[in-house]
Amino acid sequence: MTGSANATRVLVLNSGSSSVKYQLLDMEDGTRPAVGLVERIGEETSRVVNTGPAGAGKRERTGPIPDHAAALKAVADELAHDGLGLDSPELAAIGHRVVHGGLKFSAPTLITDEVLAEIERLVPVAPLHNPANITGIRTARALRPDLPQVAVFDTAFHTTMPEYAARYAIDVETADAHRIRRYGFHGTSHAYVSRRAAELLGKEPEEVNVIVLHLGNGASASAVRGGRCVDTSMGLTPLEGLVMGTRSGDIDPAVTFHLKRVAGMSEDDVDVLLNKRSGLVGLCGDNDMREIRRRIEEGDESARLAFEIYVHRLKKYIGAYYAVLGRVDAVVFTAGVGENSAPVREAAVAGLEELGLVVDADLNAVRSDVPRLVSPDHARVAVAVVPTDEELEIARQTFALVGAGREGRGRAE
Ligand code: AMP
Repeated sequence: MTGSANATRVLVLNSGSSSVKYQLLDMEDGTRPAVGLVERIGEETSRVVNTGPAGAGKRERTGPIPDHAAALKAVADELAHDGLGLDSPELAAIGHRVVHGGLKFSAPTLITDEVLAEIERLVPVAPLHNPANITGIRTARALRPDLPQVAVFDTAFHTTMPEYAARYAIDVETADAHRIRRYGFHGTSHAYVSRRAAELLGKEPEEVNVIVLHLGNGASASAVRGGRCVDTSMGLTPLEGLVMGTRSGDIDPAVTFHLKRVAGMSEDDVDVLLNKRSGLVGLCGDNDMREIRRRIEEGDESARLAFEIYVHRLKKYIGAYYAVLGRVDAVVFTAGVGENSAPVREAAVAGLEELGLVVDADLNAVRSDVPRLVSPDHARVAVAVVPTDEELEIARQTFALVGAGREGRGRAE
């Protein structure tokens, strides 16, 4: 393990199927000396964008980056260019976002060979995400074998869900044999946002019940009681739940058999249909809420219907989680749509006055990137906007684990 007292920085890596996003965060002074992205990995026109420390500005270059190993090498080069290389004594650890931690990982975990093998065993339940995360981890370990590396799982925050919320009502033996249950995703965001919302209310997380609506291109809702997740809308995969940019969210599973039997579609066809050609894009051809709102302003009917379907589903989840929690202190909007779309926030709580949910039109219209209330002072339930910060949460969890466990304990359980 590192032991340098001035090792105050954490590099956060988010390795997706064709991109690597990264941020270098200084946990002492709160700065981010490097923020960047490698995208279109495997194509001729891969792109690296790096924003360096104050004064260093932004660099951008395009050229072929064949794989994740080359992408991480490019990240290391970008950092080294500003004197922030992976060999810097200030680097305390690398924190990796890992999408699926199954039931095994309910906390950030120091990566060892055994932990990596366990993450690999989860590939069948997360075939789209875990392989890229694993490649990112392998490459980073090869570049700095001596540096502590920590896996922070998207599913971890949801492992507190009670069995009755996590289980599907299907044959138990089949479910267990294939690890079929609801795991939930976006957990790092739900954890960060629910805690930050408690702070906004001047309370401890243990004292409040909140409904978090993470509305980005992917979207999920969670019910958080006293800081612990008790239900969330995504399931075995990130397909279940809310209407998303390109995913259907909840659907009668019989639709899939029907498409195979009647429309002659293959499994892969149905997979692509529900994950890539559904949601807002399937309904109206656009998945960007800004564009949908613009089209609605122009009187476009399919955009209007897409918006209504999106909001209707959202409202159903607010109602469901209100019932699950019994008492709600705040409904909190986050991520690209949640943070920026006043019309979505307004429409999602419209008509829920009896539940104590009201949005103040003026407060809701304010554009800001700080956590804020958009409900009037007297409202029984706060409606809040809290910008999410998954990188900060990953860095904090990584730093806490490395700081607290210099003897090298992993926390797989
Ligand atoms: P995310 O996945 O959190 O990055 O969110 C991306 C989505 O946020 C985009 O697809 C847009 O639908 C939405 N979005 C971003 N900016 C705005 C905005 N100013 N107004 C409405 N929606 C926005």
